Amino acid sequence: MATQEPVKKPTRIVCLGGGWVAIYLVKSLRGAIKRGEVELTIVSRENFHTFHGFIPEMLVGRIQPQQLVTPARWVFQPAHFHNAEIESIDTGARTIVTSRAIDGRQYVLEYDQLVLGLGCVDDLSRFPGLAEHTLRIKTYWDCVKARSHVLSLMEMAELESDPEERRRLLTFVCVGGNFGGIEVAAELANYFQVLVKREFPRLRREDFRIVVVHSGKEILPELGESQPRLVKYAREFLSRSGIEFRLNTRLIAATAQEALISGDERIPTRTILSCAGSAFSPLLESLPLQRDERGRMKVDATGRVVGSDSVWAAGDCAAMPHPKGGTCAMIATNAMFGGKHVGQNLLRAVRGKVLKPFSFSGIGEGCSIGHRRAVAHVKGIPMWGIPGWIAWRATFMVFIPSWDRKFRILMDWILTAFSGRDIANIRMNEPFGVRKQMYEPGQVIVREGDVGQQMFVISEGEVEVVHTAADGTEQHLATLRPGQHFGEVAIFNHKRRTATVRAKTRVRLLSLGGNEALNLSEAIQPFGERIRALPASG
Ligand SMILES: Cc1cc2nc3c(=O)[nH]c(=O)nc-3n(C[C@H](O)[C@H](O)[C@H](O)COP(=O)(O)OP(=O)(O)OC[C@H]3O[C@@H](n4cnc5c(N)ncnc54)[C@H](O)[C@@H]3O)c2cc1C
Repeated sequence: MATQEPVKKPTRIVCLGGGWVAIYLVKSLRGAIKRGEVELTIVSRENFHTFHGFIPEMLVGRIQPQQLVTPARWVFQPAHFHNAEIESIDTGARTIVTSRAIDGRQYVLEYDQLVLGLGCVDDLSRFPGLAEHTLRIKTYWDCVKARSHVLSLMEMAELESDPEERRRLLTFVCVGGNFGGIEVAAELANYFQVLVKREFPRLRREDFRIVVVHSGKEILPELGESQPRLVKYAREFLSRSGIEFRLNTRLIAATAQEALISGDERIPTRTILSCAGSAFSPLLESLPLQRDERGRMKVDATGRVVGSDSVWAAGDCAAMPHPKGGTCAMIATNAMFGGKHVGQNLLRAVRGKVLKPFSFSGIGEGCSIGHRRAVAHVKGIPMWGIPGWIAWRATFMVFIPSWDRKFRILMDWILTAFSGRDIANIRMNEPFGVRKQMYEPGQVIVREGDVGQQMFVISEGEVEVVHTAADGTEQHLATLRPGQHFGEVAIFNHKRRTATVRAKTRVRLLSLGGNEALNLSEAIQPFGERIRALPASG
């Protein structure tokens, strides 16, 4: 009697993260999935992939926000897609716990082999006020929020009669002279120049100020070592576009009204865009595996995490050895080729073959500097100006992960050339809500006479409450300390602010939007009664 060979079960691979690593992992395993050799599941909190390269163009209305994202289920087929938040990883039991959006229901995924493609997150601990008062451009929602914020400030500036306040509204501080920070600053400079001609004729280009704060001695450190002449060209071009540089300078603190930078300079601004500083997912910290000094997973040249036979990593969250020494930079091409490399080696491992080392040494780098100019190099060959810009855009176009989005972006570029930038400000973000805020000594938190839209609870520091008499003299009304609150009178009595409140020391506050404060006072009666019983302040 003929004996039947046991059917080999497919190897279960789970990839954590739905970024570039996942896209290229799927590409390299597509055939094996179809043949039933492996079963791949991609887990991500978003059901789309974000193309970061064109974020600066989206911020300035040249591309519609939706064009930056490609549906996950288009790019990950034929793998399974699991849209949920990753809660924990148990490398001993080889399980992943996730929770689904909206109702938080938990799921447990089992794996034979695990791929970490979790990317990085913004490091919110770098300076005081970063979390509360900077705009970031990491996630899709961060970027949409930043786009809306810039438009809101321009509309506010048009109405502002105080020249000092108007200047503050039109001052934009970009923290970080790397690709991200420079591209954002360059696009903003170009944007403002275009908008003052037609849409905002009451504003002048000279009213705007864009300042790049960079801790290094020269911008674009990514290009600096190999292409110093390109960097010099970029800085001179950007200076002519009106961008100010503060090199060898750090942001010390961000507040609602000022950027405090080293050298005791205070830049009055309502917009600090932070493009510097990455941290890593707390999920990596929970693993009993080695990480490098920056916090990335230590992997060997095969892509396998050091000390593990079932965990692999690539992209921003992995310290992948570079074929020419050191480790790979946190850029998209390294994540793509890293994902592909891990996929190929996983398949070799499944088939019992010898694994190969990572051999991708880079294609090149590029940075748009506005006005249809860029600096770039392909395999060390430098390009700048308009040819550089064409090469830079063409390269990005190649990497957009779907034909649909390539076509839509192309259409947006063509339409923008004829009809101008899309400046409709669909405010995706709740303007107030419940937020943490920070103020430096002397800064005004609420101003007498303004319409009250928020109330504040002090968590740290002191504020003084003052009233300005008709003859202009100031009368001190009170000093408030942690646990006390102000700004409620204007909200609860539907009045204008009855006093000015100023920070005496560095102050940390919790602010509640008017609606939130009213709803809370109705729902929690002691809260409402206590607030209404207090003497009037602000
Ligand atoms: C504004 C900006 C501009 C950039 N411009 C360029 C450029 O011009 N050129 C270039 O080469 N690179 C650029 N980069 C860098 C590039 O985008 C990254 O290097 C690349 O995206 C890294 O890919 P990745 O797959 O490692 O991670 P990511 O693409 O960041 O993907 C990580 C994935 O993990 C998911 N995830 C993380 N934690 C969890 C969790 N707990 N639960 C569920 N899902 C989770 C995320 O949702 C995401 O899907 C830019 C980055 C930014 C932010």
